[in-house]
Amino acid sequence: MPRTPGVVLLALLAAPSLVAQTPAAPPTADLLRQLIRIDTSNPPGHEGQIDAFLADRLRPLGFDITIVPTPEAGKSHLIARLRGAGSRRPVLLAAHADVVGVEREKWTVDPFTGLQRDGYVYGRGAIDFKGGIAVFAQAVMRLARNHVPLARDVIFLVEADEESAPYNTSWLARTNWADMDCEFALNEGGWIMTDAAGRVRYVSVSTADKSSIRILVTAHGTSTHSSMPRPDNAISTLARAMARLADYETPLRLIPETRRFLRTLARTSGPPLAEAFATLADSSDPAALAAADRLVSADPLMHALIRNTLAPVLLDAGFRSNVIPGSAEATVNARLIPGADPNDVVAELTRVIDDPNVEVHLATPSSGPSPIQPSPTDTDLFRALERHAGEVFPGAEVTPYLFQAGTDAGAWRSRGVPVYGIYPYPISPDELTRMHGNDERVRIDSLEQGTEWVYRTLVDVAGK
Ligand SMILES: [Zn+2]
Repeated sequence: MPRTPGVVLLALLAAPSLVAQTPAAPPTADLLRQLIRIDTSNPPGHEGQIDAFLADRLRPLGFDITIVPTPEAGKSHLIARLRGAGSRRPVLLAAHADVVGVEREKWTVDPFTGLQRDGYVYGRGAIDFKGGIAVFAQAVMRLARNHVPLARDVIFLVEADEESAPYNTSWLARTNWADMDCEFALNEGGWIMTDAAGRVRYVSVSTADKSSIRILVTAHGTSTHSSMPRPDNAISTLARAMARLADYETPLRLIPETRRFLRTLARTSGPPLAEAFATLADSSDPAALAAADRLVSADPLMHALIRNTLAPVLLDAGFRSNVIPGSAEATVNARLIPGADPNDVVAELTRVIDDPNVEVHLATPSSGPSPIQPSPTDTDLFRALERHAGEVFPGAEVTPYLFQAGTDAGAWRSRGVPVYGIYPYPISPDELTRMHGNDERVRIDSLEQGTEWVYRTLVDVAGK
């Protein structure tokens, strides 16, 4: 049928409604989409692009902007300060601008367009941690736009090199501590976990991170011609040592924060896990604890939260096919619960391997447990997080949490400054597995709820 002017007119009239079928994203989601489009896969990161993008938005709202270059071109930190009366020490929000790379062929969407679909924003960093940058930025910009009278400075720090050293916050703290000194800080860490129905089960706020050490396991034997093998082959000795380690389970080690977390899980889970969580938190019966440990530790995350872990990660043995090497070495990565002494872990591993031809020692000598203490929960910031989580996520329990890996919080915690870790958006277990994985995504309404939570918390702790 030939096209008549009337049909063209109808098509034109229809066009705006077609566009309207994809509603404009609310402010935090819209900002996240723009941040995702700036590819900061690290290496190389080039986080300076994010710094420039945000500085342009923050400066007109009255933020003092400092961009700290690093020795690497294109890599910098952004420090944006909204001035308060100065009657209290600053509160700081830290978010890393770099992301991990992608396995492009495993994504079903483009990881760097900030696609908005079915109520989600997709893209690398949606959860870790461009979503966090977007939430923190919107919350602090709302403080400025609303002219909230501030008793203290609010510092928004956008960091480089969190996913890959060396110019991370530890480096920044050595060069620019005065710019990031504060009474307490927020960064990434705990989770706002939802159940199958999308309801928030609990809000975990991380108050401590596990620490990471390297242990070297070296087997010794006779170095000789491979045509005349002997029983003391170093590779065979090391293999036996690794087999003993594989069969070994480190004991339970619970800190008070983990007991509180387990009690929260006991109250918010179904059987049989609820009872197992309660047993782990409060029982002293060894048989009951062992049974609960087996059930709960089927989840690798839970397994790691309740003990030191030992993971063989590298092997180094032999140099040619006609020589039996005189030694063979394995590197074991140990992740320690706060308070654990690396030297005790070496002694434990030596006992487990139980072989005079195998030496176990730390890659870097240690004088004892890490001096970094878990952040206390009796601060104004933790209480404010707790109070406003109760408003924004009605009925949700708030619990302190030990983060299973390391974050950039060490720069502050090692200087005695409390840091509370949050991924500030309700998230499901499925969405959590996509972090550092494929088709990473975050719900648009989760982003807006998280912004509301952080904004109310800041008005509470920083407002006059
Ligand atoms: Zn992260």
